[in-house]
Amino acid sequence: MIIALKPGVSQEDIKKLASDLEKLGVKIDYSQGSNQTVLGLVGDTTVVDDEALKANHLVEKVIRVQEPYKRVNRMFHPLDTVLDFQAGGSKAKIGGGVFSVIAGPCSVESREQIIEVASAVKKAGAAFLRGGAFKPRTSPYSFQGMGCVGLDILLEAKKECALPIVTELMEISQLELFEDVDVIQVGARNMQNFNLLKELGRCRKPVLLKRGMASTMTELLMAAEYVMAGGNDKIVLCERGIRGFDNFTRNILDLAIVPALKKKTHLPVIVDPSHATGLSWMVPAMSKAAIAAGADGIIVEVHNDPEHALCDGEQSLTPAVFSGLMDTLRKYAALEGKVI
Ligand code: PEP
Ligand code: MN
Repeated sequence: MIIALKPGVSQEDIKKLASDLEKLGVKIDYSQGSNQTVLGLVGDTTVVDDEALKANHLVEKVIRVQEPYKRVNRMFHPLDTVLDFQAGGSKAKIGGGVFSVIAGPCSVESREQIIEVASAVKKAGAAFLRGGAFKPRTSPYSFQGMGCVGLDILLEAKKECALPIVTELMEISQLELFEDVDVIQVGARNMQNFNLLKELGRCRKPVLLKRGMASTMTELLMAAEYVMAGGNDKIVLCERGIRGFDNFTRNILDLAIVPALKKKTHLPVIVDPSHATGLSWMVPAMSKAAIAAGADGIIVEVHNDPEHALCDGEQSLTPAVFSGLMDTLRKYAALEGKVI
């Protein structure tokens, strides 16, 4: 349930109203605009009397939210969520009129590799460096990532290139190692790992939540609701393709979910054209399409030697192709009123 208060209601009146509502057993989230406050009620709101509230002189509007997600719902938080970052001297943003490009290899493979890719993507204009240290692989015999050593190397690249980093967390016990990580990625396979989501709700770090490969939009939003219910509102949603019947592409890029999510939630939405297609030659077209669909950014795999990559080489762009793509994307982003 959402209660929009009249403009200019005093803090004292808000407190009094909130305390009366809390006595009914509901929890309240506050969304503070420049001169209007919106209260978001969660919990069992059947006990709240709509008619009495509508008659209250402090209240402008009362809306019952039908969707099961409340805190991530745009009804409760009409303005877009914008995340700000800083690494070394450079600043970055996700949301707020910026088209953010996160680029880097699927996995950290060596110090030389990550520094080379990081410098190249930085030079081309990427705002964030990606790279997995802990890798969720389908086969136990495939390269599993460099683990803690990989994370240390990634942190070195962050320092050397002044780029905020995005890397995947696979289990709660690793969280203490992620202190200097800027964005914690929750992979598609962990989208409904509810214990992990709850823990990320308690931590205050930005979370990049990837859509599960067979998850509905509501399930994705409910996963984000888990993180937000724990008190962490720094969440970025990512469409990375879903399972279909045709394996010509690795997954089916569900671009239509982008405008749908932008309508339903205030959280930023990005697209992963690399995992969605599995084929590097399709990545430029799908990156442009992501801009047209209204995404706030992309996360794209770039490798200095895709043919010899230990993971996902077939979908990885070379630094040269990535650099050319960035030039094109700047023009496309400008058409949508965004900057890279
Ligand atoms: C990745 O980003 O490297 C990855 C494993 O992605 P996903 O969880 O979307 O498969
Ligand atoms: Mn990958």
